[in-house]
Amino acid sequence: MGLLENRSLLLKSNKILKIDHKNKFKDLNYKKINLNESIIIPGLVNSHIHLELNWVHKKLREYKNFPEWLNQIIDLKKNNLNKNVIKKSIKDAIISSIKSGVTTIGQISSYNGIDIPIINKYGIRCCYFYEIANSNKDNFIKNLKVIERRLIKKNLISIGIFPHSIYSLDTKIWETIISICKKKGYITSTHLSESRDEVQFIKGNDNKFDNLIFQKLISTPNIYRRKSFSPLKYLKYINFLDLNPTLVHMNNLSNEDKDIVKKNNLRIIICPRSNVFLKEKLPDLEFMLNYDLTGLGTDGLSSNHDLNIINEMYFLYKKAKKLKIKNLKEKILYIATLGGAKCLGIDNQVGSIQENKKADLIGFKITQKNPLNSILYDGGKNINLRMIDGKII
Ligand SMILES: [Zn+2]
Repeated sequence: MGLLENRSLLLKSNKILKIDHKNKFKDLNYKKINLNESIIIPGLVNSHIHLELNWVHKKLREYKNFPEWLNQIIDLKKNNLNKNVIKKSIKDAIISSIKSGVTTIGQISSYNGIDIPIINKYGIRCCYFYEIANSNKDNFIKNLKVIERRLIKKNLISIGIFPHSIYSLDTKIWETIISICKKKGYITSTHLSESRDEVQFIKGNDNKFDNLIFQKLISTPNIYRRKSFSPLKYLKYINFLDLNPTLVHMNNLSNEDKDIVKKNNLRIIICPRSNVFLKEKLPDLEFMLNYDLTGLGTDGLSSNHDLNIINEMYFLYKKAKKLKIKNLKEKILYIATLGGAKCLGIDNQVGSIQENKKADLIGFKITQKNPLNSILYDGGKNINLRMIDGKII
């Protein structure tokens, strides 16, 4: 739709009822919110975050590559079973998100629902992905039923399944997950093509998952590998792509992979600062920013400096500026709103300011000549309205 001037929004309960010139609503006798010189955008969507991993950030030691970092995460998670530390992380991560203008999160959850009451209390919209990895694969069907029960009547929270990655689960478990998702109609997402080692791993070449991570596991995942596979071609081979999944990271794609992405209309979430944090390369930004089904995430604080989505957008802007992409600022705003909503399967409800959509809105005081700069440049300091589902937060 682009930028419209001198507009007002008429809201009813949790929805946008009407969008029109401000004079049209002048005489209506409803409660008014006057934001003066402001720009209103759809609420920002942080489509990939691990709320519960804030505490990890301070405990990280030096690492040279992704597997060495993952090795630390596995140990840290195994040794910290202190629920209060995890709950505090969840709370802090939600507060940082809301502060930076996020109204919807794609939360990857690995602690069996400990986060549900906290997410519910803060009233943030959430696609709740139950994460399945090597450590919890044996009882995931039982645990998932508990999560399903706990999410009943939580209107702002929907459920999805998140197999952690191709290297952390048996091919057989992937097949079980695929059949459950097909039966229940769950949305699904996974980390994919995140590291150079992952690409070598699925080909059966020398890699640090085999040489470092698997050395410490009690049971090594049984994964079907082939020289001709890429991470994406493996998921295609096991029919995971039939589920129309949302693939997170995708920063190590071949040209053939990009063709598969386009042909299958696959949804992609990029987390550029996380890739740099983990000493991996950035995704092909020209491809991602010109693709209709890209969303943006910060990932967890375990692989980022903060959870501020506007800082993520600004970082992306700085990196992509050299590429001479047309309407770059608009495109970044798109992937952080409607693109993200598409990745989470809720674009019929949120992601744009449209009549009948949910009133998830963020207002920014205009501080720069180009209103889009008022969004991108100040890390959210000039936000003057935060609304989720029609409620001011
Ligand atoms: Zn992640």
